[in-house]
Amino acid sequence: MTNSISTRLAVIGSGPAGLTAAIYAARAGLSPIIIQGIQPGGQLTITTDVENYPGFRDVIQGPWLMEEMQAQAEHVGTKVVWDHITDVDLTRRPFRLTGDGGVTYFADALVIATGAQAKYLGLPTEEHLKGRGVSACATCDGFFYRGKKVAVIGGGNTAVEEALYMTNHSHDVTLIHRRDSLRAEKILQDRLFANPAIRVIWDSEVVEFVAGGQPEALVGLDLKSRLTGEVSRVDVEGGFVAIGHSPATELFKDKLELDSDGYIKVEAGTTRTSVPGVFACGDVMDKIYRQAVTAAGTGCMAALDAEKYLAAQEYEALAAE
Ligand code: NAP
Repeated sequence: MTNSISTRLAVIGSGPAGLTAAIYAARAGLSPIIIQGIQPGGQLTITTDVENYPGFRDVIQGPWLMEEMQAQAEHVGTKVVWDHITDVDLTRRPFRLTGDGGVTYFADALVIATGAQAKYLGLPTEEHLKGRGVSACATCDGFFYRGKKVAVIGGGNTAVEEALYMTNHSHDVTLIHRRDSLRAEKILQDRLFANPAIRVIWDSEVVEFVAGGQPEALVGLDLKSRLTGEVSRVDVEGGFVAIGHSPATELFKDKLELDSDGYIKVEAGTTRTSVPGVFACGDVMDKIYRQAVTAAGTGCMAALDAEKYLAAQEYEALAAE
């Protein structure tokens, strides 16, 4: 069995960012390998209906979109490897990646597209109601709650933006926050407080997502006041959890520059990280937009940046001979 693989370009992570990087890199003749990670296809594989990816008039399924992207990446010459990277050495050239099964990957350039995971509250019925009322992305799923009562949970920029966004679809939006002041920027707070479709419930924690109906779906949220301990119910059909995301950057701590929230820092307008030859794209470097299409866009940028880097390396090597 092969226990080492050498490549000009390795891509870690197989969501829209990683697969787009692979498609562009393969078409540039770099014969990339893409290492899929624990969740092949990324966050879109746990989404159902996708209506905002350009090019599809009808509703498409997230898992199907990712299968198509992978098929396209393979068709143009990407080698897809089912493995999970457990260690990286970015101090030596080529870079060295260690796979879960003991394979070592040597790569002249590296694209990191390991993504991020939305944080959830961890309540007993939350998992069961995901896709049936509970979501962590109003921009992705808000459209399905047209004209319905909805709630957004959280007090940061994301929560406030999601509450504002939901007023495009609903005249009854409740923001639920665990404290008595928001963490969101003032300009967003001003817009929130000025919007008549939004009310805020302060000092309250969601203690249960209430299921009901047939087929079973979200019908309400049980809230516990942090001031009185009293539990009350808010009737909603959509509950958007917006309490932050965790970028998958554990592997890169102390190896690449990360920002205070743990996202990989890139040079403005590029995908270049603090280590030359290492590029980052998608949600692992973007905490603002977080859409499949923006992830794909930065994936394309990473492949172009990597191609340029490799060409410069080659030119330098030739010049040195
Ligand atoms: P965030 O700023 O970390 O805010 C998370 C919010 O969720 C906080 O209000 C927090 O409450 C609350 N929260 C956390 N855990 C909770 C729990 N278990 N139960 C209930 N509430 C909980 O996250 P974010 O809003 O996703 O933003 C992440 C980063 O991206 C920030 O740096 C933000 O500025 C940036 N961002 C920027 C933009 C923009 O510039 N337009 C848009 C989105 C995000 P506490 O306040 O009590 O801690």
